[in-house]
Amino acid sequence: MAIVLGRSPRANDARPTNQCSPRYNVDVSSIRQIASADFPTRWGKFRILGFEGTFGADRRVESAVALVMGDVRSAPPLVRIHSQCLTGDVFGSLRCDCRGQLEMALSMITQEGAGVLIYEQQEGRGIGLMAKLQAYELQDTGLDTVEANERLGFKADHREFAMPAEILKALGVSSVRLLSNNPDKVAALERGGIDIPTSSSWPDLQGGAA
Ligand SMILES: [Zn+2]
Repeated sequence: MAIVLGRSPRANDARPTNQCSPRYNVDVSSIRQIASADFPTRWGKFRILGFEGTFGADRRVESAVALVMGDVRSAPPLVRIHSQCLTGDVFGSLRCDCRGQLEMALSMITQEGAGVLIYEQQEGRGIGLMAKLQAYELQDTGLDTVEANERLGFKADHREFAMPAEILKALGVSSVRLLSNNPDKVAALERGGIDIPTSSSWPDLQGGAA
């Protein structure tokens, strides 16, 4: 029988309870840890972890990065799920507020001395970089984000957020203070078995659910 990466993200029932793996190391899961390294940033010292997993009926391979700081197990840590935005994160685009959100999350985690930032490679809310640029072009003609994505044949938001829940469980985190006001992220984490006991304050910077 072939060894596959793991089981369905929802099949958590048979997970062993006597794990004693080193901190931040990944156990049985539908995802697998590819790497873990020290990661000093201008905000503070993190660990950077790379994950890969297989999701959905189409068995698509997704990868994501987790920046982890401090003790994230003994109390619900601050958690931010950030979707890759080359134009915002790298170039400082003012078409969106992604870079501001990313920096604010890293700053809040650093102030607290603990937390997790999960960075998903889902450019343009999952539609990909080239399609996102095409959507910008359509927006320049007067369409809004949703209309532009629909014109290109995409749903308004292609993200499913299945992977972050798996990463958090792999990190030994079962309860979080989520830095988000996006109900889809909250619902996806809860579906994935992550508790979100209290809502955190997260500004709605540009009117979109972030
Ligand atoms: Zn952006």
